[in-house]
Amino acid sequence: MTFEALGLPPAVLRALADKNYTTPTPIQEQAIPLVLAGRDVLGGAQTGTGKTAAFGLPLLGRLSGTTAPAGPRKPRALILVPTRELAVQVAESLRGYGKHLRLFTGTIFGGAGMNPQVDMLRRGVDILVATPGRLIDHLERGTVKLDAVEILVLDEADRMLDMGFMPAIKRIVDRVPKQRQTLLFSATFESRIRGLAMAFMRNPAEVEV
Ligand code: AMP
Repeated sequence: MTFEALGLPPAVLRALADKNYTTPTPIQEQAIPLVLAGRDVLGGAQTGTGKTAAFGLPLLGRLSGTTAPAGPRKPRALILVPTRELAVQVAESLRGYGKHLRLFTGTIFGGAGMNPQVDMLRRGVDILVATPGRLIDHLERGTVKLDAVEILVLDEADRMLDMGFMPAIKRIVDRVPKQRQTLLFSATFESRIRGLAMAFMRNPAEVEV
């Protein structure tokens, strides 16, 4: 199997060639065509399986395939992650995979100053990677708008629940358009994860490695 065969656009394929990625991992092989087709996807995968690219590559493919609405640049993809470290990692990966595209990625996490994050949001990003608590702070201050989100990703959802982020996630999802694509990745499909999927997803395809 090749990345070409999965239907990714040329600009993304070029970034993968730059990184010398030749072969998709199993989670990538399964998830990428589903995400490109617009399906909601419930993914069972641990760190190290290539799950970031499994949602990141087709997310870039979808955003680059349509034009942003006119007006100020607002997040079209929102990726929720449990920790600041993961936020930084995911954003770096997306910038690398998207380096031949004109898409801007920003991060929001706690334990850092608000002002640089507010400035970044004011300049505008297409993709926002955020921890739930700090994103709530921005929503309350009105410094972020989620009404243009087309793709919502919950990464390491099991860890986010372990950390008590359920109420924050609910409040955030309430502010994202109902008409959207939702991707949820978790190491397990335990019952609380199935509950999240029932609450936030539409007829999700399941992939597991
Ligand atoms: P992740 O599971 O997303 O944390 O990714 C694990 C590591 O594998 C990261 O360092 C990625 O850059 C790398 N990686 C992801 N997909 C591939 C691939 N198809 N070929 C080679 N390396 C990859």
